[in-house]
Amino acid sequence: MTDGFAGYRSQLVETLQGKGVRDMAVLRAIGTIPRHLFVPESLRHRAYADAALPIGNGQTISQPFVQARSCELLRLTGRERVLEVGTGSGYQTALLSMLAETVFSVERIAELARAAHEVLRGLGLNNVSVIHGDGSMGWRPNAPYDGIVVAAASPVIPEPLVAQLTPGGRLVIPVGSTNAQVLTLVTRHQNDAGHDELPVHDVRFVPLRGEHGFDGSPA
Ligand code: SAM
Repeated sequence: MTDGFAGYRSQLVETLQGKGVRDMAVLRAIGTIPRHLFVPESLRHRAYADAALPIGNGQTISQPFVQARSCELLRLTGRERVLEVGTGSGYQTALLSMLAETVFSVERIAELARAAHEVLRGLGLNNVSVIHGDGSMGWRPNAPYDGIVVAAASPVIPEPLVAQLTPGGRLVIPVGSTNAQVLTLVTRHQNDAGHDELPVHDVRFVPLRGEHGFDGSPA
């Protein structure tokens, strides 16, 4: 893409490689998607820093390293159907559109869902659908998913998300309190409804709201 930001994208790719991101398809996506189009104009000069940035409505575009790691953990080959919970700016949706066959992304704030949809369409990324709704329940109409990535902190692993994975499917989700979480890889078993949980990184995300997030009634 010849937009004057290619050098910054290459530098970001090098930074992420330096931090241990190895999946070449993920690095190619980071080197291609124009991240500056997903942040407010006043913050464009910081779009390629490895940092989270505010995007309005009290929400953030997550740190590129965490987004790249989350994509990498899904081990996508290009043939998968993926669900993203928490579209935010739509940047990670754009990365996923280059890594999977189809992407469904659910966002609870209508204004963000609309803005993300417009940027994604403007880029011609036609294998993604942005849905306005409560993603803590997953998105049943298009389930099951080979991969699910949650971009907001959850108090627990929401049961509907595990139930909407294919056998062997992978879910990446930050689990913990509103102040600190552990990015967790959940892998559904091939032969039964059970799953494994692997803690991967300490992270800090904005909270997942909704019925199976921090708004849900305690069990
Ligand atoms: N990956 C995004 C990006 O690239 O910009 C960043 C997502 S931001 C850290 C988290 C998003 O999750 C916010 O936009 C927030 O509104 C959304 N969110 C929180 N709870 C949600 C829910 N129950 N369903 C859908 N979206 C939710």
